[in-house]
Amino acid sequence: MIKQGAKTELDAIIVGAGFAGLYTLHKLRGIGLRVKVLEAGKGVGGTWFWNRYPGARCDVESLEYSYSFSEELQQEWNWPERFSAQPDILRYANHVADRLDLRRDILSERRVVSATFDELNDRWTVCTAGGEAFEARFCIMATGNLSLPRVPDFPGLKNFKGDWYHSGLWPEEGVDFTGRRVGVIGTGSSGVQMIPEIAKQAEHLFVFQRTANFSVPGMNRPMTYEAEQGHKARYAYWREAAKRTPFGIAGHPPPPKTALEDTPEARAEVYERKWGTGGNISFLYAYKDLLTDKAANDTACDFVRAKIRSIVRDPEIARLLMPNDHPIGTKRLCLDNGYFETYNRDNVTLVDVRSDPIIEISEQGLRTKTREYRLDAIAFATGFDAMTGALLDIDIRGAGGLRLADKWAHGPRTYLGLMTAGLPNLFMITGPGSPSVKTNMIASIEQHVDWIADCIAYLRREGIGRIDADAAAEDAWVEHVNQVADATLYPLANSWYVGANIPGKPRVFMPYVAGLDKYRVICDAVAAESYRGFKLMGA
Ligand SMILES: Cc1cc2nc3c(=O)[nH]c(=O)nc-3n(C[C@H](O)[C@H](O)[C@H](O)COP(=O)(O)OP(=O)(O)OC[C@H]3O[C@@H](n4cnc5c(N)ncnc54)[C@H](O)[C@@H]3O)c2cc1C
Repeated sequence: MIKQGAKTELDAIIVGAGFAGLYTLHKLRGIGLRVKVLEAGKGVGGTWFWNRYPGARCDVESLEYSYSFSEELQQEWNWPERFSAQPDILRYANHVADRLDLRRDILSERRVVSATFDELNDRWTVCTAGGEAFEARFCIMATGNLSLPRVPDFPGLKNFKGDWYHSGLWPEEGVDFTGRRVGVIGTGSSGVQMIPEIAKQAEHLFVFQRTANFSVPGMNRPMTYEAEQGHKARYAYWREAAKRTPFGIAGHPPPPKTALEDTPEARAEVYERKWGTGGNISFLYAYKDLLTDKAANDTACDFVRAKIRSIVRDPEIARLLMPNDHPIGTKRLCLDNGYFETYNRDNVTLVDVRSDPIIEISEQGLRTKTREYRLDAIAFATGFDAMTGALLDIDIRGAGGLRLADKWAHGPRTYLGLMTAGLPNLFMITGPGSPSVKTNMIASIEQHVDWIADCIAYLRREGIGRIDADAAAEDAWVEHVNQVADATLYPLANSWYVGANIPGKPRVFMPYVAGLDKYRVICDAVAAESYRGFKLMGA
């Protein structure tokens, strides 16, 4: 805490105390930096602090979706389930903060509103909404890819007499839907997770669906002692193996075949086995070309649509639930626990708002073009302004007063997803142009944080005061990211990967989809060649 008008002087400022911010603090302290973390929320954990909706859980197995940097940490922590639930992941984040004594450098309830680069001194001044200022040579944005919730601007929301919630801003004390008529808007990952849980409580649940999404079963189960101990006995091996995979997840050997190499009968068997195993990576790894060949992808889509038809008793509801506007896996493939089965319940109604659009939120509920639905509560599962939202929410100004918002007006441009030219000494963790959301994100976070810490240590050793991305290197990287994406089916979907969920957002495919393994090699080579593609300047 600083006095009015004074600035706290630091070596590095980290914005955000999710998994990225926590690990960055630990690493930068380790190389001797004076560091503070500024966090908007009341506590640590980021995603897992904010997303407390019923059913929230990870879709990467917990033994993998956890830090790998400390053998003690990974051995001592016990995950209760294969895919652990939000309260357990939040407990883990808090455990890490305590275990590594991180809290003394984390300032909570500090929303950062601006970051300004001083070219004379090569330092950033970072200001919070409360008027505090912090100054440091390095600024690390650990602000998250999915941390700026998006509430759609339906007319009338402010007049609604009931309660409304957003999945990413869920009340800490939880919500009891017992005996209430509830509307869920949105059927992406969060909607698919919350709908079965809310249906168990609500008197009646109305699901307002615009786009049907693919979902495969999680086949979640309690962690057994044998599974846990077996994995932990070879943890180092599994972590190393994960580093050599595109998704940062071990245990899924690359599939040898293309989908059309198999007969329809053999394919059905493969998909059935994957369906029974559970997990989205497992399913998408049925064949090696599911994300690059439309005909191959169609076979997986047909299989999942047939599954929906077999699970959902009402053929018309089943038809509405069958995705038909994007190849499977080109939007985040949802992982569910009884999602399609939920539509067999008497207290659940699916409303197709593509054919009968939402006109407004009324005092009593929600009005579509043809009728009004009386509701006591609305849960928005409408996602986030992904990947760029939290960064652009801060007024970031670099060298020569360059505003990030201006620079990215037509879409994000970065070198390696780590820096953007003109904003020296400002690093992004899992920024656009890096594998980020297309991977086990904790693996991607660790790779970025390790790289950044090594880079800062190098700069300090060499007496270099400023690092900036070279504009030509950035252009080449942006082109490469696009080329890689264009060779896949990803750009065919109107997904949040291209910003399609935010009206007016430039349509740019943001993640780097060549794989975390390939990306890691590129980043290591850049560092080994004295930070090729970066401009290093001055003492
Ligand atoms: C419901 C849900 C489920 C997910 N499941 C998985 C999964 O299974 N596997 C996976 O790999 N990934 C998953 N993700 C992605 C998840 O976001 C990452 O795995 C990971 O938690 C990101 O960590 P982070 O620290 O980068 O960002 P976050 O956890 O988003 O943390 C960012 C922090 O920065 C803070 N912040 C942002 N802006 C400011 C500001 N201006 N001032 C101060 N503080 C600020 C936020 O309050 C937040 O606490 C999921 C995401 C969601 C929403």
